[in-house]
Amino acid sequence: MKVLILGAGYGGLMTALQLQKELDYNEAEITIVNKHSYHYITTHLHAPAAGTLPTDRVKIELDDLIDREKINRIQQEVVKISLENKSVKLKDGQILVYDVLVIALGSDIETFGIKGLKEHAFVIRSVNSVRLIREHIEYMFAKYKTEPNRPEYLTFIVGGAGFTGIEFVGELADRVPELCKEFDVDPKVVRIFNIEAAPSVLPGFDEQLVEHAVEVLKSKGVEFHINTPIKEVTAEGVILENGEEIKSATVVWTGGVRGNQLIDTLGIETIRSRAKVDFYLRAPGYKDVFIIGDSSIVFDENGKPYPPTAQIAVQEGEYVAKQIVSLIRNGEIKKTPFKFQYLGTVASLGRREAIGKVGKWKIKGMTASLMKQLIDNRYLYSIGGLPLIFKKGKFLR
Ligand code: FAD
Ligand code: NAD
Repeated sequence: MKVLILGAGYGGLMTALQLQKELDYNEAEITIVNKHSYHYITTHLHAPAAGTLPTDRVKIELDDLIDREKINRIQQEVVKISLENKSVKLKDGQILVYDVLVIALGSDIETFGIKGLKEHAFVIRSVNSVRLIREHIEYMFAKYKTEPNRPEYLTFIVGGAGFTGIEFVGELADRVPELCKEFDVDPKVVRIFNIEAAPSVLPGFDEQLVEHAVEVLKSKGVEFHINTPIKEVTAEGVILENGEEIKSATVVWTGGVRGNQLIDTLGIETIRSRAKVDFYLRAPGYKDVFIIGDSSIVFDENGKPYPPTAQIAVQEGEYVAKQIVSLIRNGEIKKTPFKFQYLGTVASLGRREAIGKVGKWKIKGMTASLMKQLIDNRYLYSIGGLPLIFKKGKFLR
């Protein structure tokens, strides 16, 4: 049986590693296709973006994790998926056919059609996109030294105060004093704005913890504008819905995500490019196509969609691998629907500060920061054991 996995992020990699563990050699012909030769730890990306963690710490070569005797790896971009023909076209023209397909292509940035966003804003999406942010920030400090009458060089705007925005401003606020020292800049000149459309930072999250996060970040120098949608991004900065303009040479957009645009071409129902899958995470009408992670949408018992997270993507990957093993060995899947087990949410606010809800517990400060590192290291352990924790793990900074 030919099993084809598209994407080696949290969902796709977990599917592949579980299949590798559970299947014997020659039980199936497994292929994984991914744009890059490496898996990247998206949940750490805010740190290399700000420059508080080296970029190579968030990259893990796929060949260090997968057994090439069991899994064939192709480094290519998927450009077309035909569910009717059971085939996938890659950028180099190769056509791959499958018996079972797992689509785990992650998400794209949600721009909401905001004018100028694509052209002028940076995004926290991949190793390459965060490298650009880090280099640009350093360049702005260097530029300011030669043009000190241009405060916009040291004005940093982060659009969106969801978890990505909050985690990034926390790291950036930690990096600024180091950069000021390195470039001999008065810290008072540097401004970090976090601009949020909703009436609160981290809309929908626990109010007490949100209050704590805002307090911590304000004490580090972050300035919040809430209830203030960004209307346009220009080469000079941002224009807000209320008409105000803030000049800045660095706008980082963290205003949300939608599914991968390839999902819209599959001919199945989607919501913001995320496939509405059945209870077994299959594309409706296709018994041998699973769609997981940010590329699909799953609802809780009250009909509310689960947010796209690594946590759910990993659980979906594990579940789908088990279903594929059943398909291979029994000719059918198990009739147990996917059930998400929510373990909690922890978000970092820079060094030694974080907030989180784990089970019934609300945590903050150093405890939450340690918990965040534990969660991150647990993931590394699940894909690469102890050696990976020592190589790429996060330890008290
Ligand atoms: P991804 O992990 O994005 O993987 C998709 C893979 O597909 C990538 O390797 C990509 O290169 C590849 N790909 C995409 N298109 C193609 C193509 N056309 N051809 C070939 N390959 C392709 N979630 C949490 O649960 N906890 C957190 O703490 C957390 N922190 C986060 C911090 C940040 C800064 C960000 C941005 C997100 C965070 N998330 C967190 C969300 C989490 O990262 C995503 O929900 C998760 O990555 C989704 O996994 P996935 O497998 O669906 O997609
Ligand atoms: P998000 O959708 O959660 O947050 C985006 C924020 O941008 C929202 O608060 C929204 O109101 C705001 N926004 C939208 N349009 C705007 C505008 N025009 N002007 C100003 N603000 C605007 O997106 P995200 O933060 O990138 O998170 C994506 C997913 O990843 C979520 O499911 C999140 O839970 C997950 N994530 C989790 C963690 C964690 O658990 N530590 C960290 C990062 C991301």
